Amino acid sequence: MKKQILLAAVAVSSLFSACGSASKEPAVTEKFDYTVEQFADLQILRYRVPGFETLSLDQKKLVYYLTEAALQGRDILFDQNGKYNLVIRKMLEAVYTGYKGDKTSADFKAMEVYLKRVWFSNGIHHHYGCEKFVPGFSPEFFKQALLSVEPSALPLADGQTVEQLCDEVFPVIFAPQVMPKRVNQADGEDLIQTSACNYYDGVTQEEAEAFYAAMKDPDDETPVSYGLNSRLVKENGKLVEKVWKVGGLYGQAIEKIVYWLKQAETVAETPEQKAVIAKLVEYYETGDLKKFDEYAILWVKDLNSRVDFVNGFTENYGDPLGLKASWESLVNFKDLEATHRTEIISSNAQWFEDHSPVDKQFKKEQVKGVSAKVITAAILAGDLYPATAIGINLPNSNWIRAQYGSKSVTIGNITDAYNKAAHGNGFNEEFVISPEELKLIDQYADLTDELHTDLHECLGHGSGKMAPGADPDGLKAYGSTIEEARADLFGLYYVADPKLVELGLLPDTTAYHAQYYTYLMNGLMTQLVRIEPGNQVEEAHMRNRQLIARWVYEKGAADKVVELVKRDGKTYVQVNDYGKLRGLFGQLLAEIQRVKSTGDFAAARNLVENYGVKVDPVLHQEVLERYKKLNLAPYKGFVNPVYTAVTDADGHITDVTVSYDEDYVEQMLRYSRDYATLPVRN
Ligand code: ZN
Repeated sequence: MKKQILLAAVAVSSLFSACGSASKEPAVTEKFDYTVEQFADLQILRYRVPGFETLSLDQKKLVYYLTEAALQGRDILFDQNGKYNLVIRKMLEAVYTGYKGDKTSADFKAMEVYLKRVWFSNGIHHHYGCEKFVPGFSPEFFKQALLSVEPSALPLADGQTVEQLCDEVFPVIFAPQVMPKRVNQADGEDLIQTSACNYYDGVTQEEAEAFYAAMKDPDDETPVSYGLNSRLVKENGKLVEKVWKVGGLYGQAIEKIVYWLKQAETVAETPEQKAVIAKLVEYYETGDLKKFDEYAILWVKDLNSRVDFVNGFTENYGDPLGLKASWESLVNFKDLEATHRTEIISSNAQWFEDHSPVDKQFKKEQVKGVSAKVITAAILAGDLYPATAIGINLPNSNWIRAQYGSKSVTIGNITDAYNKAAHGNGFNEEFVISPEELKLIDQYADLTDELHTDLHECLGHGSGKMAPGADPDGLKAYGSTIEEARADLFGLYYVADPKLVELGLLPDTTAYHAQYYTYLMNGLMTQLVRIEPGNQVEEAHMRNRQLIARWVYEKGAADKVVELVKRDGKTYVQVNDYGKLRGLFGQLLAEIQRVKSTGDFAAARNLVENYGVKVDPVLHQEVLERYKKLNLAPYKGFVNPVYTAVTDADGHITDVTVSYDEDYVEQMLRYSRDYATLPVRN
């Protein structure tokens, strides 16, 4: 599970100051340009990797091998996101690099933007809203451009002509009714048949649900994550899983991943870490989900390694049924100073669990193995690239979390890059109601948002327990939203707790106002900048934030806890009573935990559909217009640094260097060239 960045632009001054570490910045502060470029609704940033130079040679080699293993999986995600994505990417890249016509024409320029968006989304659908991109160039232009490039550069099937390729693929690009959504969450529709993601083929939602329901044994207390690593297809009238493994579907890419993991194994920091990597390799080689659980348990227990990583089929947001996991990788190493903050939180995990407003029967008597750290990302890949989370909590398996705990991370250098790039961009000045709130946000929002992320990840997701016999997948399509709401509410409730001041994490008992204000402003108003006019809220994290904000807004209406007020024709959020607001967050946390613990599908549906989905069209329009004037991009992503292995005459690695000068297009074209691990049709 992951936490994403909110939209509010926050200041940078107070980062980590409460932990006593003077500064996260290296002593020498050379100028670093965090921004790369902006197009469509996207801004590309870059992040730095402070401290990489201080790693030992073996640690550097380990990071290097793991980054190679990370990049080898890029094509997998493209294919998971839609069966034509690799074909389309190749067509676009062939024209982009090989076109001999006018590269300054409006059509070519529009195609360039489209290609940049396809790279960003790992496919032809918006990475966040899931709707298909509308190309700004004509089919006629694209066809003549394709006919003009080297045919060998095109993804032609056996014996296929360029015209036939166009006939096959153009409806997918240009026809609005073909594959309109990557993940459709519209209540009442067949979510599989109406979703373009490539996790099912020729299967209805009912068939898929029945297929996986039949696998479950209600008495099994340690169930594997059924369906996690396969595509479900119908062959000769029978449902079959095509497993992603060496020798199976995506085998060509997975073999390369395994090759680099085995290199990494040779320089593992500890025997525990070596065992983690070996088990992951075993899982990739067999596709056996029991081995995946064994790997997850080893991984969760490995707390002493400085370098750590995620590599595999991990999060299920891309499957409308929430079963199948998209491929992602993150390589990182612990930020030792900043981790002090999260250690304070995790070492008090039991106190937080005991004092939460949740019904006693849904609390953990004993919170186990909550470990939290601040990490420095070394590479982002798969479903974490270029758009990334800022906090991650794994593994996702409920019983493993209950028995062995989970690892929770906050990605310090990514958060830092967001903050630096957003500083002074005018967003808060436009949307925050008054100078007092602005001052509060400038002063505290960085810190309280970091703390909220820590609480969300290391305590929120790890808190609570299932009622005996309740189905962990019982909330079905609403499961992700409810889970994110649970974690966010845990964070919101506790960021206001005097305990945080007592622990030295916050300077005073009103600092949390900054988090409450920005959270409500985002959930009630400003996150709407990410939604096209006429659309509803679809994505799980956005639904969760609106659900929480709308719910407390409505329930507190009689007491005017939170209001939407008009000034000079502009709408603002006004918080009148922060104390009561905290009480409302607590009430909703108790209810959401009950829904989760008991698998109360009807209640989950009511909460999400009533509060999380619908958009007020008038307010939406107003927010879009105000935002447009700021000329900002609502979504951000990152280019990765480039790692270079320095070798001696015998080919041994003597150092690994890191550089930051690659731009977005260069990086994407390089990845498409050097990490094209899969055939374009899978
Ligand atoms: Zn989360």
